[in-house]
Amino acid sequence: MRADTPIQYVKGVGPARAKAFEALGVRTARDVLEHYPFRYEESLGEVPIDELRAGAIATIRGEATEVGGRWPTFQVTVQDETGACRLRWFNRPRGGFGINRGATVIATGKVQEYNDALELVQPTIRTLLPDAALPERDAQIQLLGVYNSNEGIKSGQIRQVVDRVLQAIDADVLAEFLPPHVLESASLMSREVAVRTIHRPSNAAEAERARHRLAYEEFFLVELAMAIRRQRRTTLEQGIRMQVTAEIDRRIRARFPFALTAAQDDALREIVRDLHSGRPMTRLLQGDVGSGKTVVALYSCLAAIASRHQAAIMAPTEILAAQHADKLNRYLANSRVRTLLLRGGLPRKERAAALQRIEHGTVDLVVGTQALIQKDVAFRNLGLVVVDEQHKFGVLQRADIRTKGSRPHYLVMTATPIPRTLSMTLFGDLDISVIDAAPPGRGRVKTDVVRPAQLRSLLPKIRRRLLDGEQAYVVCPLVVGGQTATPPPTGNATDRQPERKHRPQSTPAARSALLSAVQVHERLSTGVWHDLNLGLLHGGMKRAEKDAAIGAFGSGHLHALISTTVVEVGVDVPDATLMIVENAERFGLSQLHQLRGRIGRGGKDGHCYLVARGGKRQSADRLAVMTETTDGFRIAEEDLRQRGPGELLGTRQHGMPELRIGRLVEDTEILAQARAAAFALIEQDPALSDPAHEALRRELRRLFKDRLNLIDAA
Ligand code: ADP
Ligand code: MG
Repeated sequence: MRADTPIQYVKGVGPARAKAFEALGVRTARDVLEHYPFRYEESLGEVPIDELRAGAIATIRGEATEVGGRWPTFQVTVQDETGACRLRWFNRPRGGFGINRGATVIATGKVQEYNDALELVQPTIRTLLPDAALPERDAQIQLLGVYNSNEGIKSGQIRQVVDRVLQAIDADVLAEFLPPHVLESASLMSREVAVRTIHRPSNAAEAERARHRLAYEEFFLVELAMAIRRQRRTTLEQGIRMQVTAEIDRRIRARFPFALTAAQDDALREIVRDLHSGRPMTRLLQGDVGSGKTVVALYSCLAAIASRHQAAIMAPTEILAAQHADKLNRYLANSRVRTLLLRGGLPRKERAAALQRIEHGTVDLVVGTQALIQKDVAFRNLGLVVVDEQHKFGVLQRADIRTKGSRPHYLVMTATPIPRTLSMTLFGDLDISVIDAAPPGRGRVKTDVVRPAQLRSLLPKIRRRLLDGEQAYVVCPLVVGGQTATPPPTGNATDRQPERKHRPQSTPAARSALLSAVQVHERLSTGVWHDLNLGLLHGGMKRAEKDAAIGAFGSGHLHALISTTVVEVGVDVPDATLMIVENAERFGLSQLHQLRGRIGRGGKDGHCYLVARGGKRQSADRLAVMTETTDGFRIAEEDLRQRGPGELLGTRQHGMPELRIGRLVEDTEILAQARAAAFALIEQDPALSDPAHEALRRELRRLFKDRLNLIDAA
């Protein structure tokens, strides 16, 4: 049997089961082997009844002493020399399996405890004629793989198919491709042993060793791809060599009214080294909102400008671009640096003039959105591009910028802390700098998870604080209306009454668990907060309306801003100290962290209330970490644990093969080892052209195909 033999040709798999397999993503013999069990059941084999253990699979044999049970359940009591055990089926089969009292029965099933006694639930059985020879006892303890399955094919059936494939598969499918020195230094079992063992381990330790080997292999391949991509970039592309002299450093620092933090200095040391290296920089700068990334970015831009290059800062939205430009201009007041904010919707003539300045090099620092800068802008001498991705990640598109000289340096900023394992895989080809400590003087933000009833008693208290001059954000998951797709909350009915009242077209959506900004705005302004100035902000509003709302809040005219998550990007009001997040259970932890980062910015302490409306206890428990820490990395790790990488990234288009066995949360150590080994190997043999690495190359190509554009026909 070959690797690509269709599953349908495996004995015992017809068209129907092949279809069921297909739904599990299993099409070929190789796919079957890579359909790893996600846990194991212990099988005791055949044992005396007094050796049964709850949770295991076991076979017993003995005499049927009682047959019956109340319809539709069916029960048989089996007795051997050591004791008695009940067999139980929930749906009485016709004729009750033909078991009569006194028959010898061999039953196999899962052992469960029920009313202080052990029983076999839904066992498969054999009855033997009185004079039949008894089969030999088979008392071997083993672990049986439990497989991801579906209606069309059960885990036990998959196990049988796996067994058949393992027996018939060509040896070369299981051949080793990791280099011997890697196997040895990481003490890995061979590939063949690992694949056989993961499906059929004889004990838990062995299963874990097999999983370790296969996870290592999986991470190793991913990291090889990353290493190759990085190698390509750094050796094939010419970088612009920039020199940051002590004098330049001093002049740039003098621009800031504060000393840089140690974390900022560390990041800058790495950036300056890259700028000087002669290779193009591609560096990811991670740090929470307010950690001081913009300052680092500006330093970098000024360094590029000092060595007679242009720099560009690309923001995700117009609002952010304008804010960046605003901030930069404040730092650059009275300097000779010529900045330009490339706005959207400029009159044609003005835009043409701006583009010409960029092309002629009479502007040093251009700020705009990614779309604006990428489209039709040609730089005269672009040396550095800063991409501010803010809260998004997983996208990280290499900006396609037209420039006449060499490829510019790239600095990508993200305010979303990315767990280390994710950055090593997803952004494994990038260099990463982390700003892990905020500048002094930020306020502390206390966070509470509250129930709707608690919120009702809080609102009057918050009102008094707002009247005393504080400002609040109220964040809601929706713009208008509700959403029917989710079940209604178990909260009391009076709690939901106002929603219905304010929704003229009373559809089933009115019973929705989700609150919208429009709803909440109306409810608050006609209720407990009727005497406050409340603003409304959501993505559906016209640009001018949005700007007006943000402006009014920013100038302190509004007590509170009721909004959707648009406040996540672009609203920067340092004095806001209070935040209420409605339906907090609907948000990922990382997103809540981003939202919360909006308050306590101006040095005053803040208070964030996460309103958990979900009926389930766990929805509130899930949020507990928010009350314990404001460390974005810890929160991101927890988010990864809770929701997995797919959800966390919010995108599947990140070009990564799905991990089959490696676990991003638990396998940090394995990943780090595999990464180090992969990078070392590529250092030695950049194109994997050594014949000894032929198998590895083939595997890599198979895995990534042309997705990462890695392994050329070379
Ligand atoms: P980020 O871009 O990471 O959100 P910013 O660079 O905008 O953060 O900095 C956030 C705030 O902290 C700004 O008001 C900035 O002036 C201030 N800041 C930045 N670096 C320092 C520092 N080293 N010392 C004091 N304040 C700083
Ligand atoms: Mg910023």
